[in-house]
Amino acid sequence: MTRLIFLGPPGAGKGTQAQTLAEHLNIPHISTGEILRQAMKEQTPLGIKAQSYVDSGELVPDQLVQDLVQERLNQSDAQSGWILDGFPRKVTQAAFLEELLEKIHQSGERVVNLDAPDEVVVARLLARGRKDDSEEVIRRRLEVYRAETAPLIDYYRDRQRLLSVNGDQSQEEVTSELHQLIAS
Ligand code: ADP
Repeated sequence: MTRLIFLGPPGAGKGTQAQTLAEHLNIPHISTGEILRQAMKEQTPLGIKAQSYVDSGELVPDQLVQDLVQERLNQSDAQSGWILDGFPRKVTQAAFLEELLEKIHQSGERVVNLDAPDEVVVARLLARGRKDDSEEVIRRRLEVYRAETAPLIDYYRDRQRLLSVNGDQSQEEVTSELHQLIAS
C-alpha cells in the first residue's frame, strides 16, 4: 500500500513526478492545486471561493482544502493508496490530515521532500506560464512556501516520515531516484 505526500517549493517538479509515479503505481494523484483550478474553471462554489487566493498566490482557507481532501480520500479509488500533491501546505493542515488518516485507517504515509534552489524553481515557473505564474505571484508563492510550508519538513522529520529527493536534476533522474526510494 503506497500513501505518499509530496512536499517541496512550487516549481520543484512535484506535480509532474507525482503524476508519473501515481500512474506507475496505479493509484490516484490527488493535487489540491489541480482540483482548485478545475473548480475555478467550472465556477463551482468551491472555485468561486478559492479564486482570489489562488490568483494572488495566497493559500486558500484551510476549511476549503481540508473538506475537499477529506471527501477525496473517502472515494473508492483512494482505498488502495494515493499520492497527495500540494496538501498539506501548513502545520494546521498537517495536523488535520494526521487525525483524518487515523480516523479512516489510512495512516502509515510517507513524505517525499522534493527540493530545488530558488533560482531553479523561479526559472521553471516563468517558463511554464500558468495564469498564476506571473513573476509577482511566483514571488509571493515562494514566500508563502518558506513561511508556511517549509516548516512541514521538520514536522515530518520529527515523526520519522520524511524522505528526500533532489529536484535539481533531469525529470528522468528524479523519477529514477523516486522509484529507488519507494522500493526501499
Ligand atoms: P504550485 O505548487 O505550483 O505553487 P499548486 O498547483 O500546488 O501550485 O497550487 C496552486 C494554488 O492553489 C496555491 O498557490 C494556493 O493558492 C492553492 N492551494 C493549493 N493547495 C493548497 C492548500 N493545501 N492549502 C491552501 N491553498 C492551496
